[in-house]
Amino acid sequence: MDHFLYRDGALYAEDVPISEIAAAVGTPFYAYSTATLQRHFKLFDDALEGMDHLVCYAMKAASNQAILRTLAQVGAGMDVVSEGEYLRAKAAGVPGEKIVFSGVGKTAREIRTALTGGIRQFNVESEPEMEVINAVALELGVVAPITVRVNPDVDAKTHAKIATGKSENKFGIPIARASEVYTRAAALPGLDVIGIDVHIGSQLTELEPFELAYQKVAELTEQLRNEGHNIRRLDLGGGLGIPYTRSNEAPPLPVEYGALIKKTLGHLGCEIEIEPGRLIAGNAGILVSDVIYVKSGEGRDFLIVDAAMNDLIRPAMYEAHHDIVAVNEPAPGTEMQAYDIVGPVCESGDTFAKQRNMPPLASGDLIAFRSAGAYGAVMSSEYNTRPLIPEVLVNGDQFAVIRPRPTFDEMINRDTIPEWL
Ligand SMILES: *Cc1c(COP(=O)(O)O)cnc(C)c1O
Repeated sequence: MDHFLYRDGALYAEDVPISEIAAAVGTPFYAYSTATLQRHFKLFDDALEGMDHLVCYAMKAASNQAILRTLAQVGAGMDVVSEGEYLRAKAAGVPGEKIVFSGVGKTAREIRTALTGGIRQFNVESEPEMEVINAVALELGVVAPITVRVNPDVDAKTHAKIATGKSENKFGIPIARASEVYTRAAALPGLDVIGIDVHIGSQLTELEPFELAYQKVAELTEQLRNEGHNIRRLDLGGGLGIPYTRSNEAPPLPVEYGALIKKTLGHLGCEIEIEPGRLIAGNAGILVSDVIYVKSGEGRDFLIVDAAMNDLIRPAMYEAHHDIVAVNEPAPGTEMQAYDIVGPVCESGDTFAKQRNMPPLASGDLIAFRSAGAYGAVMSSEYNTRPLIPEVLVNGDQFAVIRPRPTFDEMINRDTIPEWL
């Protein structure tokens, strides 16, 4: 459920007409709903009620500080995967003790920044990384709390580019080697080995892969405890999928996911962390674009819109589907028409949808890409020297620009010309 609904024939974000935002900031732009962000966080928080837990929002999904602060204010921690994300979370007001550091290639510098500024834990992905965290901690005279990310070798049944829990993926250490790695970790004086971490992929639409992975984590917890490790925190990653279409069958709900966690891991008495990103931000954001031209081709009509693959890469990168709606609600009985919806970038990959049924549209009409809140703005680029598009946060009847569109001068003046030219 989200808060982007039609009212009196026009699309709204909460209590603000989308057309009003478009008039104020120009198109294209991203708009996020505060109520949706908070609602999704709360669904997870409630789903783990009764267990000692922290929901750490995977901020790579949408990392604007206004979004981070919105979530932090209702109790979220953060899962970060880079020094930049760490500093951004801190700048948004998130304390270090609520920030978890994930990621497959943390550098010594990143580790130093986090240990200096405060960190809840590092999720360690390899033995060499473990050694570096130990060394940096000793150098700073602190002890680094860590979990080890294990790779449970389960099929997440999702798009290959976002599956992370199979043995052929680059993530974590093979679960079969966990015992050996924990023994090594326990011997390093700069580390405090507090738990286990697992994250098997993104946009999972079934619970079964989670169940298989969490059962393995439960077994491993008992084994490691028997071997003398004080396993007291389990980080279960993110990955719960969202419905990208209104029609298809719904992925599991956070409450069902929470029940699965209780069933598979509840008896262990560990503190539980989860790291959802997409489910919190995905349906909390839309991308609004304007039709530049309607062009008739050989047997097909193209809607050429002012958003492009550099603004929303998911269709080009993951063959992702986004529902696309007209901002002016079509009158009942309007005959739909099939369009290929494309951006202006010089690549055929800059195609958002093929033969998509839409009401008849004309130049100047607004459309909205639904479910664009996660892995949308954060993956955008300035390809074709197109400015990064504004982000807008709506809260009830208010809205604010939370990242302005840069001017062309700002963009162009970032280049520096060497002396010899
Ligand atoms: C990407 C990622 C997440 C978030 O995944 P979602 O599918 O957005 O919920 C969580 N943890 C780790 C380690 C990740 O890499």
